[in-house]
Amino acid sequence: MDNSRKKYIVANWKMNFTTGEASLYLNKLSNRIQPSRKVQIVLAPSTISLQPLSLQVNRRQFKLAAQNFYWREYGAYTGEVALSQIRGFVDYAIVGHSERRYVFNESEADIAQKVAAAVRSNITPILCIGETALERKDGETAAAICDQLASGLHEVSKEDIDKVIIAYEPVWAISSNKNAKPATPTDIIEAVKIIRKYIAKLYGKDAAEAISVLYGGSVNKDTSAAYLELDGIDGLLIGSASLIADQFCAIVEIAKGVNK
Ligand code: PEP
Repeated sequence: MDNSRKKYIVANWKMNFTTGEASLYLNKLSNRIQPSRKVQIVLAPSTISLQPLSLQVNRRQFKLAAQNFYWREYGAYTGEVALSQIRGFVDYAIVGHSERRYVFNESEADIAQKVAAAVRSNITPILCIGETALERKDGETAAAICDQLASGLHEVSKEDIDKVIIAYEPVWAISSNKNAKPATPTDIIEAVKIIRKYIAKLYGKDAAEAISVLYGGSVNKDTSAAYLELDGIDGLLIGSASLIADQFCAIVEIAKGVNK
């Protein structure tokens, strides 16, 4: 597999840490993690912490990501935050996370608009896709993945597909789910093949080879090496383990050491 693609370690802090705690945690990570050209580390704090952390962060060391935003530019959308309001703070944005899809009923149409809005704003969308336990049980994994790719990338042109990152996150493997269990290497390799084949169908072989695909789902320091070594996997999206400095720093060091 091509090893010219960059590695990504993305921390999704979800709805954790006050602004003060987030600042202290960033300080702790900054003291322990050396910048690396091989691994792009991306931190996704709560929206409220983006502005202060953007002033604190060394962007050679870490980039920031939004966990969520609304795709319209401005207007009467109570409680929402537009990309135009956070554009200066973030380089990446998580879109279509399963908690947004299933807890907040985010629609495929909104996800497609968010991906397109991020691309327009020069913010790299990290489009999360992945089947539910029921879809897997019913043999619908491939269909679920391809449907989410088709709808999520609906507004993305061939010229812009290299501005998108895909995160494969089987919903049943995410630690916030009851009975979560980590995906096996075989599960992930099969899913990544499906993803690249479908990207090839939509955008051509070169785009399929070039696109970065991350894995997310209950990754910790003991399991990260095995996931990072998998063919076609370019990094990790990490939830709970990203909240613990020892865990997160160990995963980053492991990623720096992976040669493929
Ligand atoms: C996630 O929610 O994107 C995630 C991967 O979480 P966790 O690592 O806790 O399973």
